[in-house]
Amino acid sequence: MRTKKGNEKKQDPVKNFEKWKKKYEKTKKLSKKPRRKTEWETERENIQKLVAKYAEINPKEAVKFSDFPLSRKTLQGLMEAQYRQPTEIQRQTVGLALQGKDILGAAKTGSGKTLAFLIPVLECLYRNQWTAMDGLGALIISPTRELAYQTFEVLRKVGKNHEFSAGLVIGGKDIKDESMKIHRTNIIICTPGRLLQHMDENSSFHATDLHMLVLDEADRILDMGFADTLNAIIENLPKTRQTLLFSATQTKSVKDLARLSLKDPEYVWVHEQAKFSTPATLEQSYVVCELHDKVNMLFSFLKSHLQKKIIVFFACCKEVQYLFRVFCRLRPGISVLALHGKQQQMKRVEVYNDFIRKKSAVLFATDIAARGLDFPAVNWVLQFDCSEDANTYIHRVGRTARYKEGGEALLILLPSEEKGMIAQLQEKKVPINKIQVNPEKLMCVHQKLEAFLAQEKEQKERAQRCFVSYLRSVYLMKNKDVFDVFQLKLSEYAMSLGLAVAPRVRFLNKAQKQREGAALEVSTAADSDSDDELKSFKAQLRLEKPSKSDSASEEEEEGEEDTDEEEESDDDEKVKPGELLGGTDDDDEDEDLRDMDLLTVKRKNVFNVSDEDEELQDAISKNKKVSKASEAKKAQKKKFKLNTKKVFTEDGEIVQQWPPLQRTVVSDEEDDEDIAGINVEAAKERLRREDQEFDKKEYSRRIKEKHREKRLKEKAERREASKRAKEEKKRKAGGGEQDEDDEDDEEETVAYLSGADEDFDPSTLPGPDKVYRSEDEDEESNGPELAGRKRAHSSSEDDYDEEHWGAGRKKSKQHSSEAKPLDTGLSLVEDEELVLHLLGNRS
Ligand code: ADP
Ligand code: MG
Repeated sequence: MRTKKGNEKKQDPVKNFEKWKKKYEKTKKLSKKPRRKTEWETERENIQKLVAKYAEINPKEAVKFSDFPLSRKTLQGLMEAQYRQPTEIQRQTVGLALQGKDILGAAKTGSGKTLAFLIPVLECLYRNQWTAMDGLGALIISPTRELAYQTFEVLRKVGKNHEFSAGLVIGGKDIKDESMKIHRTNIIICTPGRLLQHMDENSSFHATDLHMLVLDEADRILDMGFADTLNAIIENLPKTRQTLLFSATQTKSVKDLARLSLKDPEYVWVHEQAKFSTPATLEQSYVVCELHDKVNMLFSFLKSHLQKKIIVFFACCKEVQYLFRVFCRLRPGISVLALHGKQQQMKRVEVYNDFIRKKSAVLFATDIAARGLDFPAVNWVLQFDCSEDANTYIHRVGRTARYKEGGEALLILLPSEEKGMIAQLQEKKVPINKIQVNPEKLMCVHQKLEAFLAQEKEQKERAQRCFVSYLRSVYLMKNKDVFDVFQLKLSEYAMSLGLAVAPRVRFLNKAQKQREGAALEVSTAADSDSDDELKSFKAQLRLEKPSKSDSASEEEEEGEEDTDEEEESDDDEKVKPGELLGGTDDDDEDEDLRDMDLLTVKRKNVFNVSDEDEELQDAISKNKKVSKASEAKKAQKKKFKLNTKKVFTEDGEIVQQWPPLQRTVVSDEEDDEDIAGINVEAAKERLRREDQEFDKKEYSRRIKEKHREKRLKEKAERREASKRAKEEKKRKAGGGEQDEDDEDDEEETVAYLSGADEDFDPSTLPGPDKVYRSEDEDEESNGPELAGRKRAHSSSEDDYDEEHWGAGRKKSKQHSSEAKPLDTGLSLVEDEELVLHLLGNRS
């Protein structure tokens, strides 16, 4: 039957085709009117109605969210999240954003800026009927991972009725996993470095259809710390996009606006006319306190606020790391948490969620927690170290008194910081009162800390790091009217941390010398010693330029910093022994040197050249290949030593066989490019040329080797022949030319060893351990006889090698059997006697 049908079809193909065509067209017609299509049409009509209302939006009349022409899905999301009435910034910006305007939005901390951009983002994609197939439609950039995460959570809440996909692209997560999904993601919330990494490394990811770009905490994203990264990102974005910038401290820098190609942006500065720049519900005060009393002050403060939720801001990670540990041990009666950029991502998330959940707790944090984070019900913000400027101050204190809630803030100032800082705060309209602390009420914990340090060497090392890092952070502060590292009383400060002796701080000593001998410097620059001094002096001058925010970016951004040598383990109490300093003076010096290394990175930022974050920044637009090279350089700097195998040629030259050497063929100048930023094209070209050059060399090496081997074989054959002739002669006469033959012996030995490489195929190489083993065997042998015997015994191993080395190796084995007479290790005369003996036997 089947065959028959088949035949029929074959017999009348035209008829069959006509039938099939009719059937196809019928189904096609049917499928043209699916239910979904109708939905889309309805949706499109709704969209048209909404868009028609955009022109009539009157922010003054918008009391409820439903007064805006928003999609049903967004309105529903807002209602479900209990957002009914827009805040001032939302009221003033949502309409403009819907109309497609570029916006610079500024409003106090906690005033609801997140929804002010999330609502337009959702509406923009809805309006364009965006689907997963359309890829990236909106991009939201945050300065820190925590803020990105928080924004993502808000988006999930209010956007849950939409079908768009949203992704959190931050460092510290598996990049491969992210790469698989990123090209299908419609809304990306990211930190700059990580996004750029994807742009550079992931060919399937592009932003060509991007409709909306949002910079949250825009002034931070636009400052120098992120400059290179952001510029590189912007290069990848279409100019036709809409751009929204939001922050509590916004500048109208023309340069920044040009960088972002904003088109007639609308400035919405909600609180421009407000008397104060901080929330009205926030009570702010400051206290002047000596540096060595600060730890006591903090402890006493916590003891008297046990039921509160408190954030304490410190100047640097190492301060947080050390003080967090000792405060845990001091058991103040309130749970102590720590959040800083050198923690692993998992730990950061854990701490973040922990602090959200807890009713009372104190969070020790660096400025990674200063911006945007919306921890519920924070009662107090205590600034243990003075913030770098008034803006940072405003952001720090903005972690409390959010959205109509109350809050209190206390700033601890050193006597040397008071005048300058208070002036800055006044200028920025920050109402702050001075309060006094009764010194008698201060609880002293110095001795307890000293006792801890005596018990634990690790704590002592942390204390030393804390000491040096704090001084460094003060030294690097831009505003020298406020921060003067030379005013600090170092030994008292060291004691307050529990240290008996102040660690030596080399950069400070140098800086001090420079201050004292600035005039001398010119006159002595001629001699070579002071030449060095001069160089370091100049370097220091450059180092003074970076703002604290530049260094903060290293900490805030990107997975990159997860590789930091001091990265915290999940268990905070575990510390890798290798990270620790010995606590001697020398070690302190090491620490200083490492500090200087870090500073070098910052210096790059300052001059707007390639930034390591590099990883970030330059991995950046620029590219991964280059960053691999720079990573290799970094590894080299760490002085890792690879195992190597070296052999000697007959000329006594050392030849490295393992790992294979690949020499760069480019000039050193080109190498130095790194320092001044990476030129991607040049780097690619250089890699290509290196590869070519290496291939050429490898090829000619192999050819040479073959030739040489051939020569030696011929020589060996000749030698064999002459030997036989000699033997003949000897049988008749006796005597020989020992010297010449000895030479030949040596040569042949080399020839057979190198024969292993004949049909060189790198994939057939054994692991280096394999090579070592055979080498060791040779070395272990005590004498020539033993060597011969050993070879015989290890035949099973040779077999094993053979399997793995392939044909080339087999050949070498053949050679070595031919070479056997040479391996007897006997003198030539003895050899000849042996041969004669054997020949005699045979005959
Ligand atoms: P900002 O970014 O301005 O610092 P956020 O967007 O983080 O402020 O909002 C601060 C707090 O205000 C958040 O807890 C948020 O849930 C709340 N909030 C924002 N908008 C509204 C609103 N329209 N109604 C009620 N609460 C809101
Ligand atoms: Mg915010």
